[in-house]
Amino acid sequence: MLKQFWNLLFPQKCAVCGGAADRSLLCQNCARLHPYHEHSQLALGYKYLGLFEYDETARKILAQIKYQKNRELIPFIQKSLLQHAPKITADLLIPAPLNPLRRQERGFNQVEEFFRTYAAYYHIPLRADIVYRGRHTQKLAALSPAERVKETADIFQVWENKTIELKNKKILLADDIITTGNTLRKLAETIAQYAPAGIEIISVFRPVGRANML
Ligand SMILES: [Zn+2]
Repeated sequence: MLKQFWNLLFPQKCAVCGGAADRSLLCQNCARLHPYHEHSQLALGYKYLGLFEYDETARKILAQIKYQKNRELIPFIQKSLLQHAPKITADLLIPAPLNPLRRQERGFNQVEEFFRTYAAYYHIPLRADIVYRGRHTQKLAALSPAERVKETADIFQVWENKTIELKNKKILLADDIITTGNTLRKLAETIAQYAPAGIEIISVFRPVGRANML
């Protein structure tokens, strides 16, 4: 409400360059992601697709969303995905989970938000409730916040009562950006333990010049 009032008083500025923007909060120059469409194969045999170049504009947009919690830029990514992401046949779309503390701090998982409309459009159930990130341990309560982050970083697990939901399913794993591929590989390995019919990976962004390095 306050925000809308503010926008009436002051014209919208592009979140990337500060120029004149429309309601998407981006100017015409910055509201353009460069399709990359890197098809690749992860070392473990998972098909992988990276959609857009992670150039300077993309970096600023993603940083605005993740670190400034600027949710108003999310529809732009959603729209770009709908325009450029091919249909991938899958039974479940699983967004890479965030570390729980980061999720709580940010208030949302950007990966989940980015792929929400894509999943709906292609009728793929988006399931953020099957895999979680972080060790499942009671010890956490005894740790300082910094120790907790360290303790829980980059470890994926499937909720015990949800493992059956992965069996014989074609899984599409989604992330916002893949650089080394280590995180997604860990996530895929975790899911592979529960007999899915197949696993494919899709990411919104991909740094250029990393082709075939996964
Ligand atoms: Zn701009």
